[in-house]
Amino acid sequence: MIIQNPQVLLPQSELDPRVISKLERYARVCYKSEGQMTEQGDPDFLKRIIKSGHESIIEHEKITLMFIIDRGISHEIVRHRAGAAYSQESTRYCNYSKDKFSNEISVIDPYFFRDDPQAYKLWMDSCQTAESSYMNLLKAGRSPQEARSVLPNSLKTEIVVSYNMREWRHFLRLRCDKAAHPQMRQVGIPILLLFREKIPVLFADVEYDSNFSAEHYAPIIMTDDNFIPLK
Ligand SMILES: Cc1cc2nc3c(=O)[nH]c(=O)nc-3n(C[C@H](O)[C@H](O)[C@H](O)COP(=O)(O)OP(=O)(O)OC[C@H]3O[C@@H](n4cnc5c(N)ncnc54)[C@H](O)[C@@H]3O)c2cc1C
Repeated sequence: MIIQNPQVLLPQSELDPRVISKLERYARVCYKSEGQMTEQGDPDFLKRIIKSGHESIIEHEKITLMFIIDRGISHEIVRHRAGAAYSQESTRYCNYSKDKFSNEISVIDPYFFRDDPQAYKLWMDSCQTAESSYMNLLKAGRSPQEARSVLPNSLKTEIVVSYNMREWRHFLRLRCDKAAHPQMRQVGIPILLLFREKIPVLFADVEYDSNFSAEHYAPIIMTDDNFIPLK
């Protein structure tokens, strides 16, 4: 059984700064004010539009990234419907007894058990039992889609998520709040901080749980368009 930390893979091309001038141009159609566009753009124009609640404008642009997280957190992510698209590793079609999975399951380390050896051992024993039952069901001739019944919430999954900018704002507002699950904040907050830095016009006003310790943030790995990490 492989135990790994959560990660976010983000293609560099998804953080294209031209998104802001494109959105400004689309929005100016409403007021026929395209003549007021300047080379450097007017970030205050878009900020005013968002503040006024005219958020449908920012649905024209999207960001796609890949979460590597556990199935429990992925289930929370896919509850977001509006302006969303998903492609997720399937426990129906993936057979973790095969060589390409090194004949074992992968699980995401629940960081909150790390300081509690007893809880951590209980979690690990439970995942190992689940793995062993899964492999035994496959050996007994059951299919992966049947054997998956015993796999844990902690099972590692890869999910490609595309949200338009309006949905990213909504998602991050909900999922970076202190009411969100800690493993959700673990991936959500570093995404929000990066978006705030790179696209402040759209994200600077989205708040987050600043008491969540940065030591638990999942790394955001910049990649090419095929999710291969950049050198
Ligand atoms: C802290 C927290 C705890 C939660 N606990 C639970 C729980 O115990 N049980 C549970 O089942 N879920 C729970 N959820 C999930 C929650 O109920 C939502 O399903 C999830 O957050 C998706 O958000 P959303 O509904 O805003 O959907 P999104 O798809 O993100 O929609 C964005 C917005 O579009 C609008 N919209 C989208 N679809 C419709 C529609 N069909 N009709 C009208 N307007 C629409 C709404 O304004 C919505 O807010 C929890 C979420 C959070 C953040």
